[in-house]
Amino acid sequence: MRNTFDFDERLLQAAAAAEKAAAEEFAEIDRISQHGTAKVLRAFQSNRVSAACFAGANGYGYDDIGRDTLDRVWADVFHTEDALVRHHFVSGTHALSTALFGVLRPGDRMVSVTGAPYDTLEEVIGIRGTGCGSLADFGVRYSQLDLTEDGTPDFEAIPEAVKDARVVYLQRSRGYSLRPALSVADIAKIVGITRQVNPEAVVMVDNCYGEFVDYDEPTDAGADLIIGSLIKNPGGGIAETGGYIAGKAKLVEQCAYRLTCVGMGKEVGCSLNQSRSMYMGLFFAPEVVANARKTGVFAATLFRMLGFECLPVPSQKAGDIITVLVLRNPAAMEAFCAGIQAGSPVDSYVTPEAWDMPGYESKVIMAAGAFTGGASIELSADGPMREPYAVYLQGGLTYGSGKLGVLQAAQTMLERGLIRF
Ligand SMILES: *Cc1c(COP(=O)(O)O)cnc(C)c1O
Repeated sequence: MRNTFDFDERLLQAAAAAEKAAAEEFAEIDRISQHGTAKVLRAFQSNRVSAACFAGANGYGYDDIGRDTLDRVWADVFHTEDALVRHHFVSGTHALSTALFGVLRPGDRMVSVTGAPYDTLEEVIGIRGTGCGSLADFGVRYSQLDLTEDGTPDFEAIPEAVKDARVVYLQRSRGYSLRPALSVADIAKIVGITRQVNPEAVVMVDNCYGEFVDYDEPTDAGADLIIGSLIKNPGGGIAETGGYIAGKAKLVEQCAYRLTCVGMGKEVGCSLNQSRSMYMGLFFAPEVVANARKTGVFAATLFRMLGFECLPVPSQKAGDIITVLVLRNPAAMEAFCAGIQAGSPVDSYVTPEAWDMPGYESKVIMAAGAFTGGASIELSADGPMREPYAVYLQGGLTYGSGKLGVLQAAQTMLERGLIRF
């Protein structure tokens, strides 16, 4: 590599060694990417995707061929009966909220069997704040089965926990915690246990950050409904906004009734000019996810060589695109995030600062220089300024740029005396 960025020579040597050490992991990531691309390409072909699917549609959106065909493509890729892929979802949280409100009825209970759900869902469920129209306000009860000490599901306690629940809720990604991401095998195990004691329950999976990370998806493991964001993995860095819900046809319809209105569901909601970018995004997604994963594996391998604890460890099967670097000190977090920011294609000239983000107890620092606002399939790093001072690294649209971003982060730490060779 020509040293265009004037990185320290010792750093470049460590980077070369890290890449060499990660060769096996990279090869497996490529195999998974190839498998995902095959699923996507096949689905495009068998659903006869054509240029007509990319034309914009306006008004009510009746017979919007771009929208309807994309739903079928999506259902084929994720091996589900139906899908609801819409730019009308403003975020992943919105899609998750739509699914919960779509399926649950007053008096029902939902149980999260992977501990606390993602922060933004606390208000949706009604764990935090009431009187605003949360699920709790509508008489939906919530309970939670915490993970065991090593961050894995408490399989033995699941039968009792899911017994009379309407929705059994799982979060695949580690989110902002040190627990490992849920593997598809773990999901299959939870589905199996649930079916034995409560065959009617709807197994719903927050699939954010998980798409195309493994050969199979939660729906291959028997999950009834998966939900995710298009400015993460399945949007391939190209979709401009949106989310998806995929699974059993009856449930997808209930969700569509919630997104638009009862009786109209999927038949309305024009695609405007968003279809082409959603198709292209899905087409690129397996490869972009592979680039993000390689960026993460490169960072983890390099920083392990530099003496830091990094997760997941190579022997763990990845279930999401997040890499955790335990930096153990606030100055190191600041330096790392400053480097990631400086190494970004957009907003490289700004310096991230820790701030009091609403809803968080400690200050949070975030680095992101993305083409799409908030898109964490693009290179980004963030974390709460508290013990153990860990940064969560996501994304990298291309491996080449992701690697340079990580090197910039290491270089910044080196210049501030936070790394020693
Ligand atoms: C990103 C994410 C969400 C949804 O977040 P949005 O920012 O609303 O898209 C939910 N769960 C997990 C695990 C996520 O990573």
